[in-house]
Amino acid sequence: QLIFLNGEYVTKENAKVSVYDHGFLYGDGVFEGIRSYNDNVFRLDEHLVRLYDSAKSILLEIPYTKEEMTEIVLQTLRKNNLSNAYIRLVVSRGIGNLGLDPFSCKVPNVIVIAESLSLFPKELYDSGIEIVTVASRRNRSDVLSPKVKSLNYLNNILVKIEAGLAGVPEALMLNDQGYVAEGSADNIFIIRNKKILTPPGYVGALEGITRNAIIEMAKEKGYSMEEAVFTRHDVYVADEVFLTGTAAEVIAVVKVDGRSIGTGVPGVITNELLEAFRNLVVKDGIK
Ligand code: PLP
Repeated sequence: QLIFLNGEYVTKENAKVSVYDHGFLYGDGVFEGIRSYNDNVFRLDEHLVRLYDSAKSILLEIPYTKEEMTEIVLQTLRKNNLSNAYIRLVVSRGIGNLGLDPFSCKVPNVIVIAESLSLFPKELYDSGIEIVTVASRRNRSDVLSPKVKSLNYLNNILVKIEAGLAGVPEALMLNDQGYVAEGSADNIFIIRNKKILTPPGYVGALEGITRNAIIEMAKEKGYSMEEAVFTRHDVYVADEVFLTGTAAEVIAVVKVDGRSIGTGVPGVITNELLEAFRNLVVKDGIK
C-alpha cells in the first residue's frame, strides 16, 4: 500500500509523521473522507471545497491547489490499483514546538491514504440498524463551526464509545438544546407522512455531501424535503429513519432508544433513496 506523504508515495511502514506535529499534539488540522466507486471519485470537488473551507476557517494554508490535490487523489488510487476505495485526506498544522502556538508550525503535513473499507457489514444495509441517543453533545455553529471538519473528533469518539457500550453500531448526538444534530460521522433523515426532514447545519450538523446528494434526489423525486429542527420524540414517531455519510452511505435505522421505527424494517422511501444513491455514485464522479 502506497500513501501520499508531502509529495512522496511511501509504504505504510514508512508513512510516519513527527510527534511534534500539532495534528497529533492538539488535533490541529482538517480532514476529508471520500469514496470512489468503479473508478469514480464521488463528488471530489465538493469534498475539496469543504476541505479548503475548513482549512481557511482555521487559518491553515494547504500547500497545493485544488487541481493539484485532485491529481494527488487520483494518483493515489491508481498507484494502489483501487477502483472501490475509501480515501482519507489529512492536512495537519505540521511540526511546531511543544506549545499550543500554531504560528510555530511552518509547513503543514499533507497525507492521502486510500484503502478498501466498508463501515457496516452488507447485511445491515438490508436489515437496518439500531441506534441510541447519547449524552455527548454536538457543538452548534456559534462555537467552532460544525462546518469545519477538523481533526478534533473527540466528541464523535465519545459517541462511538457510548454506542459501543450500548451494543449498537451507531448513535445519535443532540445539541446543547436537546435538538437532534447527527450521528458520530453521519447525518440523519426522518420521514413522516412522506415528508422528509433533516436537521439544518446550524443545529450542529456537518453539511454532509451524501446528505446534499440525498436532498437533491428526494426533491427530484417530488418528495417534500425540508431542513428542520426536531427532537428525539420526532425520531421515535417517524415512519422511517435513515443515516447518510461517505462511509455509512445510506443506511436504514429500525430502532432508536428501544423504540421500533415504523414497522421495524427499512422503509419504502429509504430503500428508494438507497437505490437511487447506489445508481448515482457509479456515474457521478471524477475519473
Ligand atoms: N457528520 C460528521 C460529523 C461527519 O464526520 C461526516 C462524515 O464526513 C458526516 C456527517 C457525513 O458527511 P459526508 O456525507 O460528507 O461524508
